[in-house]
Order: sequence, then C-alpha cells, then structure tokens
Amino acid sequence: IALGHGQCCLDLEGALIARDRVGIQDFVLLDAHNSETAFLDNLKKRFTEDLIYTYIGTLLISVNPYKELDIYTKKQMDLYMGVNFFELPPHIYALADNVYHTMLSEANNHFILISGESGAGKTEASKKILQYYAVSCPSSTLLDTVRDRMLMSNPVLEAFGNAKTMKNDNSSRFGKYMDIQFDCQGDAVGGHILSYLLEKSRVVHQNHGERNFHIFYQLVEGGEEDLLRHLGLEKDTKHYSYLVQGECSNVSSINDKNDWKTVKNALSVIDFDASDIEHLFGIIASVLHMGNVHFDGDTKGYAILNSNAALRWVSKVSDSCLSGLQVLSPFTVDHAIYARDALAKAIYGRAFTWLVNRINESLENKVRGQQEKIFEQFCINYCNEKLQQLFIQLTLKSEQEEYEAEGIGWEPVQFFNNKIICDLVEEKHRGIISVLDEECMRPGDATDLTFLEKLEEKMGNHPHFVTHKLADKKTRKSLERGDFRLLHYAGEVTYCVVGFIDKNNDLLYKNIKDVMRLSKNPIIQECFPATEGDSRRRPETVATQFKNSLLRLMEILTVKEAWYVRCLKSNDNKQSGKFDEVLVRHQVKYLGLMEHLRVRRAGFAYRRRYEVFLQRYKALCPATWPHWRGVPAEGVEKLVQHLGYQPDEYKMGRTKIFIRYARTLFATEDAFEIC
Ligand code: ATP
Ligand code: MG
Repeated sequence: IALGHGQCCLDLEGALIARDRVGIQDFVLLDAHNSETAFLDNLKKRFTEDLIYTYIGTLLISVNPYKELDIYTKKQMDLYMGVNFFELPPHIYALADNVYHTMLSEANNHFILISGESGAGKTEASKKILQYYAVSCPSSTLLDTVRDRMLMSNPVLEAFGNAKTMKNDNSSRFGKYMDIQFDCQGDAVGGHILSYLLEKSRVVHQNHGERNFHIFYQLVEGGEEDLLRHLGLEKDTKHYSYLVQGECSNVSSINDKNDWKTVKNALSVIDFDASDIEHLFGIIASVLHMGNVHFDGDTKGYAILNSNAALRWVSKVSDSCLSGLQVLSPFTVDHAIYARDALAKAIYGRAFTWLVNRINESLENKVRGQQEKIFEQFCINYCNEKLQQLFIQLTLKSEQEEYEAEGIGWEPVQFFNNKIICDLVEEKHRGIISVLDEECMRPGDATDLTFLEKLEEKMGNHPHFVTHKLADKKTRKSLERGDFRLLHYAGEVTYCVVGFIDKNNDLLYKNIKDVMRLSKNPIIQECFPATEGDSRRRPETVATQFKNSLLRLMEILTVKEAWYVRCLKSNDNKQSGKFDEVLVRHQVKYLGLMEHLRVRRAGFAYRRRYEVFLQRYKALCPATWPHWRGVPAEGVEKLVQHLGYQPDEYKMGRTKIFIRYARTLFATEDAFEIC
C-alpha cells in the first residue's frame, strides 16, 4: 500500500483474502462456489465483528446492527472521499462516493435503490448517503441553503410520515423517492421528493402496540404552552382518541419533546414562516379534536353530537365552519363516525402532500410534485414487486442479454422472474387492479364480495393466485371466505377483500368537501380546491393512480444507472448483536442475492464501448496515440495488450470491451492519471 495508488489496487485481492478473520468483504471473491451456507456464514462472521457491510461487486449488503457503530464520523467520511471503490472496507460511504464520481466522470444520471423489509435499515441508509453528500460535495454559500434544506427535509417528513409499528419504532409509512440535482462541478443545486402511498388509515386507527404519526405526540408533548392554548390542546396524549388506541404513547427509544424542537428548527430552515407553522399545526390539532367528536344515537337511530366542545375547536383551529355540520342530512351513528374519520384522513393526507410540495418548492424544484395515494399493504407489496422487477431487468436479465448480444460465451444463470406477478396485479383489462376498478365503476350492487367473485372467475387458474373457493382442502383451512392469497416473490400474503371497493374509491362526502373549501386556513383551501368538485369526469381510482405513479417512477429510473443497497434485518426483536440465521437466509433468498452473485461472479465488472475506451486511454500506448485510424476494436486490443491485460481479465464483444475485475480498470485509470 505504501507503494501508492496503483500498486494498492493490484494487491487488493491478496489483501482481501488475507483478511479472512473477518470474512470476505466481496462475495464475488468467496471461494466456496455459490453455496448459500457459505454466503450466510460470511455475513454472520462479519456481523459478529460489527462489519455490517459486504459487497457483491458494486451491490452493497447492509445488515442492521441495532446499535450505534463508530463508523459514521467525519473522519470516516474523509477516508472514503475520492478513493477507489474496492480499496477500503465496504461502506455505504464508498458506494455514495463511487456513484457521485461516476456521475461526474461519465456525466450521466444515476439512482440508488435501497430495499429491504420493515426495520431493515433503509431510512438510515438513505440518511447516511445524504449526510455523506452534505459533507463531501463542494459547496458555496448559496448552495449551503439547498444542502441544509435537503438534510432538514428528513426530520420533517419523518415526523409527519413515520410512526412506531410492531416492527420498527420509526417506520416510514410512505414511500419516498428523492432526487438530488448536481451541476457539472458536482455542486448539489436542487432536489425533489416524490412521496408515495401515505398510510392515511393510521390517523384514525392504530393496532395495539403501534402509534399514530410521530408529529401528533411531538406537538402534544413538546408544544409550547402558548401554542397549545391557542390550539385548545391539553398537554397529555391520553386525552385524544386518535392517540390512545395502541396503548403505547411512550416509547423508550423516542423522545417526542426533543424531536419537536428538531422539527420546528427544520421547518424554519426549510423556510416556513410563523404563519405557515400556525396553519400547519392548526390542521394537526384539528385532526386531534376531530377524533374527540363523538356521537350518540337518537330514538330513530340518527347521530347527534354528544358535546359541541370538540367540534367547536375543530372549527376554530382549522378556520372552517364545520360546526355548521348539523344542517347536513341526518346520518346514522356509524355513518357519522365514518364521515368524521374519512375527513380526518383526507385532511391529514392532503396536508402531507402539501408539505411535500412545499419542501419541493424550497428545494428549488422545477418538476411538479405528485399526489399522494393510499392503498396499504396490497399496494405496498405491488410496489415492491415492481422494484424487484426493475432489479431483475437491470441486473439479472439485461446483464445476460448483453453478453448474448455481444457474442460473449456465457452459461445462463437461472432466476425467478416475478413479471408474472406484476402482470397479475396490473395487466390492462385482466389484472387485479382492472377488475377492482370495473367493480368500483359498476353502478348498482358492487360489493367487496362481488369483486372477489370476479377475481375468482378471471384469475382462477393463475399459479400465484388462490382463494378459499379454489383452494385445496389444506389451504382452505387457512383462508377465510372473503380472502384471496397472492404468492409474492417474497412470500405468500393473504388479503381480506373487506374495504377494497371503499378504499379504492376513497370517497369523501361532497358536502363535507364543500365545507372545507370555505375554510380560511390557506393550506386547507389549497388542499380542497374548488375545481375538484366541478369535474364531471369520474376521478381515477386510488389503485389506478398508484399504478400510474409507479409506472412513472419506473420511467424515471430506467433512464438512469442503477446502484443497489440491500438492507437485511438481523433479527425480529430489534436486539443488538443477534444474527437470526433463518430470518437472514429467507431475505437472502427472496432478494435474489445468490442469483445476483452467480451472475456477478461469472460476469464482468465493467464494460465500455470501444470508442469510449479508446478515446479515454489512447495516450497510454504509442500505437494508439495521438490517433488510431483503424477499427476501434483493434485499437483497443493493441492498447490492452500494451497495458499487459491477461487473457482472463477481459473479453472482446461486438461493440464493447468487457473487463472482469474492477482492479484491472482501476489500474488503467491510475496509469492514465499519472500520465
Ligand atoms: P421501514 O420500512 O419500517 O421504514 P426501514 O428499513 O426504513 O424500515 P430504519 O428505520 O432505517 O428501517 O431502521 C430501523 C432501526 O434500525 C433504526 O431506527 C435504527 O435503530 C436501526 N438501524 C438501522 N440501520 C442502522 C445502522 N446502520 N446502524 C445502527 N442502527 C441502525
Ligand atoms: Mg423507513
């Protein structure tokens, strides 16, 4: 290593293997060929040494340690800055740095896809990447603002979009795509956030052991006395129906009071002024008051308010005339509760969308924000299928197709292609979403059960679809009559159809919308635009909106170069240092890591078009400098022979040179820099 950069690269493999005490840091170098057991042993060995990161080529695996590690310091960041990818132990900083420098040198767009199950560490990984860019990218005073705002968007979105669940004390209840725009000097000049699928139902209902969104507790626990008085709030979460259902307001890992301060500070960095903040928290408070609006039944079974106090506060803090609701047509108690909850969800959901849009404005975005959509687990699982499909297309499939197209000798690696499941959900006229939409549009007596019947009729023979009616005896025991089961790539999931029609329509009573439109709170006005009611066209269903937004996301992603972080959960108990082999093995399986390793091991780390390769490195060989006048492929052949490439290190395709090891290219790159 003391010999300098280039030498260091060439010694790399020896150095890695010598480090066997802590396992192998790139699975591509692991000896035991393609064995899942060897794969897990290596992960475990490293995990017990607090080495949570391991590569498969340029893919980064991260295993959640559930404890603070001393590897995210400024010193560590400095260490990784501008260093070749494989020179240092695997790290999320190495990946971030490599993406950044590749983007600059190749002048093209990249994306990093972070996936894994709930609690695996996706949000933490994304924050580490952002922090790394905040420190490592060059910046001037002007750009500091963009950088700070980008960093500060995290605590704000986490406060409004994250909640404690059984699996994760800080679980993201929405999907997030964040764009960071760099100029050609590498300065971060802007950003844009797309949010997907906020779980609005959490606003009105939480399971035992779970909480509502963090922001409610932060406001009640941490809010200044003046503010709380103004909003009519008590300083104790137990007073609010929407906060007590899970019976776990206090969580040891969460400090709502401190988080409140962080969020307030972050909002001011993102350029929220005092009146924005007042209006925003007016909305949060109105949702809490709304949950406390209760109804009694009168003699005819119609709902009557059992007290006006909560409703008066709703009206006051949301600047609306909701207490005029008595003039609406009479509701039964159930209807009234449904309408109240629907309104609470709509207000919160729309305020969240407004917040994301507002953050985007402060990040100087030019692209328009997206509307948030709902659909809970079914939609989330569909989203994960799509991301997996993208991963398959970009790595397993396209990689192999390229070898074939380039005429490189190749033994195909088998893998499970989940396209069949994506089609089952999204195919036009035949997929589950189409069938659901048809039922939603059908006038008359469509119900969740008629929807299920249609599914049975249309999907009956599909290998990834099972219902009670069509199941064999054994499966039938585990399926209720209103259920259907999908065999997702990550495992089987049973869905109960109850509520599908309703949630897909996401109806809000029209007269309630009209009342909200009259609010004087400017955020509420924006959230309930007058144009919405006028539209004669039937609005798109929730599932279709979501499907379209996923298709747009796929379009955004397919024109960029892909990098992957696969987060693995080490155990189900949030326990530090525990490596549950069965759980990790399951994740390794469904994330397709073994297949990925096989493709990688047999494959080539880098490829360049002959023209590009020649143009860049022609100065390294007298025969190609200053010009190579013949066929580019022949020039490249001359060049690499001059550089001493061994036959196993590269192959010549039809249009590109394929280089097996990263170190070979690094050595060439270093020679180029010296020259
Ligand atoms: P969800 O899908 O529910 O949003 P997630 O994959 O985003 O889950 P995180 O919130 O990132 O999961 O991680 C869950 C918890 O695990 C964190 O709050 C933290 O306690 C711990 N954790 C995750 N990654 C790391 C890490 N690199 N170092 C230390 N602790 C971590
Ligand atoms: Mg998360």
